[in-house]
Amino acid sequence: MAEQVIYLNGEYVSKEDAKISVFDHGFLYGDGIFEGIRIYGGNIFKCKEHLDRLYDSAKSIMLDIPLAYDEMEQALIETIRKNALRDGYIRLVVSRGPGNLGLDPKRCPKAWVIIIVEQLAIYPEEAYRDGLVSVSVSQRRNIPDALNPKIKSLNYLNNILVKIQANLAGVGEAIMLNSQGYVAEGSSDNIFIIKRGVVYTPPCYVGALEGITRATIIELCEKLGYSLKEEPFTLHDVYVADEVFFTGTAAEVIAVREVDGRTIGGGKAGPITTHLLGEFRKTVEVDGVKVYE
Ligand code: PMP
Repeated sequence: MAEQVIYLNGEYVSKEDAKISVFDHGFLYGDGIFEGIRIYGGNIFKCKEHLDRLYDSAKSIMLDIPLAYDEMEQALIETIRKNALRDGYIRLVVSRGPGNLGLDPKRCPKAWVIIIVEQLAIYPEEAYRDGLVSVSVSQRRNIPDALNPKIKSLNYLNNILVKIQANLAGVGEAIMLNSQGYVAEGSSDNIFIIKRGVVYTPPCYVGALEGITRATIIELCEKLGYSLKEEPFTLHDVYVADEVFFTGTAAEVIAVREVDGRTIGGGKAGPITTHLLGEFRKTVEVDGVKVYE
């Protein structure tokens, strides 16, 4: 990768010069939104879906993004080109911008837009075959009528508390329940289970982000003829599932081989998970907005 160039409010600056104000409300209060996007072979995967989610999150929290949709797409393309990256990860952040120390967003005249592109540290290939060990944690998902998990906000403390519990248990990803005890999602991944050939994932109202990888897997299930049900389920259903996997932009489709000491299925990535991962990887090769002509 060439020397890292970062988009900061319309300018392209070096990593050293990419600085934000200590009065930025994203920094002070987690007041802002973000996206994590993958670049595969010089294409921005599901660019429209990510930008749609970004602009929806912005509308929900009444944040005016100072760039029109097309300008934002162009800024992504230009930042990737300047970094000469063909495969990697994009972090797009829109914060409420600098204001005063009070939390009133009216005091923040202009949102800040930051685009960082980087190479991605991903799970080793064996993990996709062997599956991850996971645990459920006591930390519950934010309830949707307090802070809706559909908003991809900068306020990730709920998820970070899950990650801390995952770290304490020595696992890479953990399972978070909602306040009623239904399975919601991981700290930064959606969850699926498979039982007797049927694929299940919690509906987002249970308390999950509308993951773009999740939506891609739902589409693939339809295309490949797997029965897919969005319905709430409990940890018991996870323990007795034939297969379990997480989905996310960084993790893609990663099998889980053990949950809370219970071996899942055959104790490695199951056949449907492996099939879906293979088809997902074919999709990412051809789908997406082209960065280079
Ligand atoms: N849930 C949460 C809480 C996340 O942060 C992410 C990562 N963006 C996901 C699920 C997976 O979503 P996506 O497939 O869009 O990356």
